[in-house]
Amino acid sequence: ADAFAGMSDKLDKAWARLQGEKDLNADNVKAPLKDVRRALLEADVSLPVVRRFIARCEEKAVGMKVTKGVEPGQMLVKCVADELCELMGGVGAEGIKFRDDGEPTVVLMAGLQGVGKTTACGKLSLALRKQGKSVLLVATDVYRPAAIDQLKTLGKQIGVPVFDMGVDGNPPEIAARGVRKAKDEDIDVVIVDTAGRLNIDEKLMGELKATKEATSADETLLVVDAMTGQEAATLTASFNEAVEITGAILTKMDGDTRGGAALSVREVSGKPIKFTGVGEKMDALEPFYPERMTSRILG
Ligand code: GDP
Repeated sequence: ADAFAGMSDKLDKAWARLQGEKDLNADNVKAPLKDVRRALLEADVSLPVVRRFIARCEEKAVGMKVTKGVEPGQMLVKCVADELCELMGGVGAEGIKFRDDGEPTVVLMAGLQGVGKTTACGKLSLALRKQGKSVLLVATDVYRPAAIDQLKTLGKQIGVPVFDMGVDGNPPEIAARGVRKAKDEDIDVVIVDTAGRLNIDEKLMGELKATKEATSADETLLVVDAMTGQEAATLTASFNEAVEITGAILTKMDGDTRGGAALSVREVSGKPIKFTGVGEKMDALEPFYPERMTSRILG
């Protein structure tokens, strides 16, 4: 399975509608953009995101200057491609922003249970280690001892130390202690695995906020399951509103997903997708490149 599979074929039909046209105008862009709209909805991009996107494409396409030798169909492809890329955050991948004052960079990982948060903690640790950073993982899910054990097992597997206090203490306090330990031991990055719950509730958000404050976190990354499609948009908006995230990690992009979440996250939160998870293994994490995702969508 591949996200956006079949999308480029559908879109080829859209561009073909412009065959024989001399320019792009308010009349002739309607039908192809309707195809684009349908394809995006089928890919499970959330409706408000699609609406705004199509409106922007239409505004930009109509009145585009005709260049000699460039067919209107190609012009519309270019226009949609540029807008898609912009929708996902523009150029290059945005990784972790490291502190440069000698203090450890603190990364909070947030998200609902089962989205792949703990796995992402391990993957990110490994990726940072490969960049030459020392990492400390911190387990704060005091409600699920199994989650703490899972992180410890991952840590052992990839050779990254894990700080935990079992199920004692409260998450902000445990996280703050972890950060202090990292400072004492001159560790570059602290990755805090926070508690996941089945639903967004006030308690989860309150605790996350408190953990963020207690650690002066530099990054708050929301881990989002790509399989949840347009649900991902709503979820991202809620987390961002409650705790202000700095970015997202989109997991399970290798699964049977239609990919829509990749297009919604930025639009609803203003925050970039920084990485994608593309498998269960520890090395299955990739930086997110909007332009590559755009080529994948348009073929
Ligand atoms: P958490 O409850 O959010 O901490 O979720 P876990 O990290 O325990 O992951 C839940 C399940 O999703 C596990 O079976 C993981 O192996 C799996 N998983 C996590 N990330 C990915 C991914 O990028 N691709 C695939 N295919 N599976 C993943």
